[in-house]
Amino acid sequence: MSQFNAVVIEDVDGKAKVGLKQLSLSDLPDNDVLVEVAYSTVNYKDGLALAGNRNKIARKLPMVGGIDLAGTVLESKNPAWKAGDKVIVNGYGLSEAHWGGYAQKQRVKSEWLVRLPDAFSPKQAMAIGTAGYTAMLCVLALEDYGIAPGQKEVLVTGAAGGVGSVAITLLSGLGHKVVASTGRPETHDYLKGLGATECIDRAALGEKGAPMQKERWGAAVDSVGSTTLANVLAQVSYGGAVAACGLAGGMDLPASVFPFILRNVALLGVDSVNAPMVRRERAWARLAKDLDKTRLDAMTEVVPMSKVIDLAPRILAGQVRGRVVVDVNA
Ligand code: NDP
Repeated sequence: MSQFNAVVIEDVDGKAKVGLKQLSLSDLPDNDVLVEVAYSTVNYKDGLALAGNRNKIARKLPMVGGIDLAGTVLESKNPAWKAGDKVIVNGYGLSEAHWGGYAQKQRVKSEWLVRLPDAFSPKQAMAIGTAGYTAMLCVLALEDYGIAPGQKEVLVTGAAGGVGSVAITLLSGLGHKVVASTGRPETHDYLKGLGATECIDRAALGEKGAPMQKERWGAAVDSVGSTTLANVLAQVSYGGAVAACGLAGGMDLPASVFPFILRNVALLGVDSVNAPMVRRERAWARLAKDLDKTRLDAMTEVVPMSKVIDLAPRILAGQVRGRVVVDVNA
């Protein structure tokens, strides 16, 4: 295969144009590991890049999209990796500063590579993708803070999305009582199938509320931000914690300090893009141990790379349920 397919974001007369293009090896960046990509995925950030590069995700054009990839090493200049090794890359600026996973071949830096755990196929690793690995980072943040399964419920916002679906699956599998906040009543059965004990309407968290509200949650995983996060903080019980990773509802945080100074509530920030390798490896090891693969399969749809551009408006409109895997060879 001298030429291969890629989804490329280009600058055409000052506007971002996204399309399927043919590339050759000489077009790829000069990084030290060449990977034959098997699968990528669609995360919220991919939606922004594909929908005319909103929020300028792709910072220099032309850019190959896709913040994640899974595949097999073809060539490596670093002896730590050899042809045939199965690898994953999450984040590290793919599709932002570096060419990403929407390509049948890609050259990446060896220090970005995580070895694919034996527990997962490349397809399952991309069903997890950045969204699922971030959900795991959120669970680790809560555990490291001292949150353990118990009587108190754990709230997951943005529940039917990618981060939310994996967070529910992980937390319920670990023995937590999980409540799912969603704006889509039609996903209630799906969310209960992933392990949620109850679903609540996200509208209840979307309106500005009092700075301190009735204590309910022992902890929470929030991928929505804004008023939702402010209300969640106001409802967390004494000594609880919120792992905050997203802004699907907005980047602001109209909250008061009361939950922090009167209830000892902790707000734990979670970043996946530049997470240190030791934390990534820990997250992937825990995913391999704790993630129910039947539930992972139930939350995943697979699309060919030729259709990925059509998906951008759907994920930005909050219409994608669970996770989307991109088959770069279809
Ligand atoms: P998805 O689009 O899959 O899920 C987001 C979910 O949020 C939607 O499914 C919907 O859930 C809910 N939602 C969407 N719009 C709104 C709104 N206006 N108000 C309230 N809820 C809303 O995205 P991901 O799960 O992949 O990502 C979620 C967020 O996390 C994004 O902001 C993303 O950028 C961020 N993120 C951050 C990472 C990090 O490193 N910190 C890594 C990965 C993601 P429902 O229909 O159930 O209500």
